[in-house]
Amino acid sequence: MILVMKQGTPPAVIDALMAELQQNWRLTPEKIVGQQKVVVGLVGDTAYLDPLQVQNLSPWIEQVLRVGQPFKRVSREYRHGQASEVVVSTPLGEVKFGEKHPLVVVAGPCSVENESMILETARRVKAAGAQFLRGGAYKPRTSPYAFQGHGESALDLLGAAREATGLGVITEVMDTADLEKVAQVADVLQVGARNMQNFSLLKKVGAQPKPVLLKRGMAATIEEWLMAAEYILAAGNNQVILCERGIRSFDRQYARNTLDLAAVPVVRSLTHLPIMVDPSHGTGRAEYVPAMALAALAAGTDSLMVEVHPDPGKALSDGPQSLTPAEFDQLMGQLASLTMVFDRRPQETLATSS
Ligand code: PEP
Ligand code: MN
Repeated sequence: MILVMKQGTPPAVIDALMAELQQNWRLTPEKIVGQQKVVVGLVGDTAYLDPLQVQNLSPWIEQVLRVGQPFKRVSREYRHGQASEVVVSTPLGEVKFGEKHPLVVVAGPCSVENESMILETARRVKAAGAQFLRGGAYKPRTSPYAFQGHGESALDLLGAAREATGLGVITEVMDTADLEKVAQVADVLQVGARNMQNFSLLKKVGAQPKPVLLKRGMAATIEEWLMAAEYILAAGNNQVILCERGIRSFDRQYARNTLDLAAVPVVRSLTHLPIMVDPSHGTGRAEYVPAMALAALAAGTDSLMVEVHPDPGKALSDGPQSLTPAEFDQLMGQLASLTMVFDRRPQETLATSS
């Protein structure tokens, strides 16, 4: 349920109302300050509440609305229709993800393999205009015999690449036991597709302050994905980015997954959270990545994640879907033209400084 306060409501009135709702009504009120109005979101068992009774609590309440969705805090209604932003501090400055901001590009190898490859990739993707370096230290692999990631030593290498280039770092946390270590290096914590419904992990990343990139599970409905995000917000962290990375469908002969680009406008209408699209895992084939990256921008994504490897043929994971640095340069050039059309100019200031 949300209470829309009248424009100009004194802050003391809102504080008193929130205290009343908490103490006497046993609800959890949350204040959301919009551009013009303040909205008070109520979560908890609100199904039994009579909206009229709530309305009578204060003449400053303009409207009482029920949130019609099972996800509350992530719903667009909860923010009274306004988009939220995720703000990440990187060594080169703040990067903002969101509907009103320039396109943010995250690029790098699937796995951190060694020092020279991660440094070289970081330098190349930075020069091409990316704001974040991605790279897995802990890898969720289908086979227990496949390369599992170098773990802690790879985190150190990501830290070194961050220092050398100033790029922000995004890397996956697979296990609650590794959360602290990963959070020491990562500017954004990635929860992978396979862990989208690992509720213990969602609660833990929700209870710490670093922003979270939540990938869509490979067989997750949009509602399940948003409910997973709800876990993170309910635990106290509203800095969440949703990443579409392709879902399972019946045809896997020519593409690894089905990149659900229709999810972009759908999710946009349902939630205030920023959106990312990963065309690399979405297609599984480097040759299809540029087309899908451009299509994702046209569909309205706020950010892109692209796998880039200095020598994809020798990659320890996901080589077939990784672009070479030269191919990534070319894609960034194409994206730059399209961002003009869609008014999502890349954050050039970061790419050109230091
Ligand atoms: C990855 O980003 O390398 C990865 C494993 O992604 P996903 O969880 O989407 O498969
Ligand atoms: Mn990968």
